[in-house]
Amino acid sequence: MSGRARFDEAAGVFRIYAKVQGRDGNWYLSCEEVHAFLAEYLAGELAAARRAEFERHLARCRSCAAYLESYRTTIELARESALGFEIDPAAIPRDLVTAILAARG
Ligand SMILES: [Zn+2]
Repeated sequence: MSGRARFDEAAGVFRIYAKVQGRDGNWYLSCEEVHAFLAEYLAGELAAARRAEFERHLARCRSCAAYLESYRTTIELARESALGFEIDPAAIPRDLVTAILAARG
C-alpha cells in the first residue's frame, strides 16, 4: 500500500487515511469511509460491491474491526435496555407511590 496507509503510533494501529490500491490490486476504503457506512453495514443496507469493499477493509484494519465490534455491542445494549425494561408493580414501595401521587397534586 502507499503512504496513504500507515501505522498510527499514538493509537498503536494501522490506519488507511485515503482510499488506496493494495499490492493485491484491490482498492481499500479509508477508515473514515468505513466509519461513515457503519450503520448501513450493520443494517444490511450496503450494496454488494460496497459491502465487499467494506469487508476487505475490516479484514486488514484492526482498529476498524474493533470499532465495529464496540458499535455493535452499544447498539445491542441500547436495544436490550429499551425492550427488556420490566417493572413489577408489586415491587414498588407503597410509600413511594403515595409520595409521587401527593407531589402531582
Ligand atoms: Zn480502518
